[in-house]
Amino acid sequence: MTTIPEDAEARRAVAPVICYPNHTLPRPDLPLYHAARAEARKIDEVVVAPRDASCFEVEAGHFFRITSVEGPQVGDLNVWNREDLSERFYSGKTRALHGTHLSTGERMWSSFPHLRPMATITADTLGWYGIDAYGGSVHDVIGTRCDPYTGNLLAGSQYHHCCHSNLTRALADHGGLSLVEAERHVHDVLNVFMCTGFTRDTGQYFMKASPVRPGDFLEFFAEIDLLGALSACPGGDCSAEHSSDISPCFPLLVEVFAPEPEALNGWHSPARNGYDGSHGR
Ligand SMILES: [Zn+2]
Repeated sequence: MTTIPEDAEARRAVAPVICYPNHTLPRPDLPLYHAARAEARKIDEVVVAPRDASCFEVEAGHFFRITSVEGPQVGDLNVWNREDLSERFYSGKTRALHGTHLSTGERMWSSFPHLRPMATITADTLGWYGIDAYGGSVHDVIGTRCDPYTGNLLAGSQYHHCCHSNLTRALADHGGLSLVEAERHVHDVLNVFMCTGFTRDTGQYFMKASPVRPGDFLEFFAEIDLLGALSACPGGDCSAEHSSDISPCFPLLVEVFAPEPEALNGWHSPARNGYDGSHGR
């Protein structure tokens, strides 16, 4: 039992403050990126099979696009520094800096001690969606990735095509790693095209049918040399359930584009974070 204080309503009525005002974040030069993209040529593509994952590599200064091709489908994206897998996407800090869902002009930030932009979103055909009446939006950094351990915890299941396992197999195959080694590098994702939020009454994580349709895409500028892995989630459009073979699932297309050599004059791949690392010693 908790005792409700007399001034409970007054305490609840205190206005929130933004934890990380982001007006001092280094701004991406979107006009430069868009001009470079306009003249870029396609150099690679990977089709990610339903309920499976594939890796792809993107050089710093190149672009990659994730497209819905056959039907509404959600993708779980992991991103590493291609030369150093210990530098990987940091979903929690990205959420703290940009909010629960990402769109054009926002960035995927890397883990400590690097904390630098790995990729910048340069185009989002679902940018119109905004935040719906349930508090839902697309491309979240609040979920984790569907995984067999939670399924086992909640339902006693042994399901092998959750995004966590798909990403593990893809990284193992791409890098010549054992499954045990590869699994250590799999991390919380950017949920591409997924529509999610938190319920207002219980604060629970919810999903609903993705508004994505074939032809929709999310496009990124690679700020550093990247290794990516994308899983076509077994949840399909995540309208009903994941962690099973019940939902209709579709492939996802990843394309890589290289700008003209002179197109990015003046741009530099970002340096790692400037904190000196001494931690008070
Ligand atoms: Zn998934």
